[in-house]
Amino acid sequence: MKQLPANYSGQILNGVFSHILKERTLSVIQASEAFDSYNFPLMPYITAWHQEDNTIWYEFVGQQFIELLETNVTDISKVFRDSIQDQRIFHYTDVSQSEVAEEIITRRQISRKRHNLRKNVQKNKQVEAIYQIILPSDRTIWLKDRGRVEHFPNDTITLTYGCLTDVTKEMEQKELLEQIGYFDDLTGLPKRNIMKKLFEVRTAERQRGYIDEFSVLMIDIDHFKLVNDTYGHQMGDFVLKELAALMSSLKRKEEDIGRYGGEEFYGISLGNNQNGVKFAERMRRNIEDHLFSHNGTDIHITISTGVASTEEIDQCGMDSLLALADKRLYRAKHEGRNKVIGGS
Ligand code: GH3
Ligand code: MG
Ligand code: MG
Repeated sequence: MKQLPANYSGQILNGVFSHILKERTLSVIQASEAFDSYNFPLMPYITAWHQEDNTIWYEFVGQQFIELLETNVTDISKVFRDSIQDQRIFHYTDVSQSEVAEEIITRRQISRKRHNLRKNVQKNKQVEAIYQIILPSDRTIWLKDRGRVEHFPNDTITLTYGCLTDVTKEMEQKELLEQIGYFDDLTGLPKRNIMKKLFEVRTAERQRGYIDEFSVLMIDIDHFKLVNDTYGHQMGDFVLKELAALMSSLKRKEEDIGRYGGEEFYGISLGNNQNGVKFAERMRRNIEDHLFSHNGTDIHITISTGVASTEEIDQCGMDSLLALADKRLYRAKHEGRNKVIGGS
């Protein structure tokens, strides 16, 4: 073995491992060390996971990271683990990889889930997570972790080469949005004001020629008062929540859903009236088939929707568009509910 890096506190270079693994580890340590010495706003690290005895340790930790946690290379693993408040894993939810979901794992859950997380990392060949850390100075920061993974089956060792970046500003922005009431408490959907803003933005974008037509949807649950009267307000709340989740899962990138208030929702969809009606129909069909189960009660509900599009109105103001959608919603109710009415 060539000369060990200064301050080396890993286990591979001194251990009983294959030549290939040792060579690889040494070269990545050297590269990371060189990188770290320039103080880029990225903090490199290398971890090794020994699958057989399920132990994990650092092969390398950048000096910046050690200083941030005010510790030393021997204790960093424990100090880091103890300072994590929550961990968010971001992963793609569908094959087209357009939807990114956020999984929040609280401190208590982390140790329980750790093994599964490592298995996932090995399978996906990459790490992507965000940690909330409380520093020794009591300052709270967010660190984003991105790494790539290399598996050495003969040694049953998985190496992760990663970098941590400070994303405190971005995460605070996100938390702020949640705090200032961007989202409705019960359903988690954007509130009426926010949807109004979105409508304004779309209208302006269209006037400048950035986008073509778009449609707005006014959605109202059918006979919702009956749900409350028959099964109680709690069941009503549950239905609103689950319905919001269902609608969110049905919408595509170019479509949005928000809560107007009560049991009424707004939708917006880029494209012409036909596209808007398709979106509304997709929701109507899926909701009709969905069983809402809560505390031993199973019920079905339906929705009615009015759709209006920019292409139908000459001087297209937001108010006239919403008024037209509302008129069609009223017609859908009148014509028997569980119905979508758009332009003919
Ligand atoms: P229609 O098909 O004509 O829309 O009939 P409807 O019963 O849905 O309409 P109506 O406007 O008479 O009733 C709406 C009901 O929605 C009344 C109100 O109690 C209920 N509601 C509004 N907001 C909430 C909420 O946040 N939670 C619960 N549980 N109920 C709500
Ligand atoms: Mg209503
Ligand atoms: Mg209703």
